[in-house]
Amino acid sequence: MVLDYVPQIDPVKCIGCELCVKLCPSDALGMINDVATFTAEEECEYSGTCQEICPTEAINLVYVIVFSGEKGGRRQ
Ligand code: SF4
Repeated sequence: MVLDYVPQIDPVKCIGCELCVKLCPSDALGMINDVATFTAEEECEYSGTCQEICPTEAINLVYVIVFSGEKGGRRQ
């Protein structure tokens, strides 16, 4: 599955503990210069594991909110 968006990693907050790299069920993350990076972005399935285990809250999942222009199934 290829997602349009992957979680964002704040390189300033990342302390390089590698927890997210080791626990990502999709092996989508790797380390570059001691900072977590999506080295296999196409493998990300948005499990949320990385965000949950990061001790510094360096990872945030991005959500896209789409407004349909409709309310209650009817056009206003
Ligand atoms: S879990 Fe957080 S602090 Fe640790 S390597 Fe990943 S992004 Fe960096």
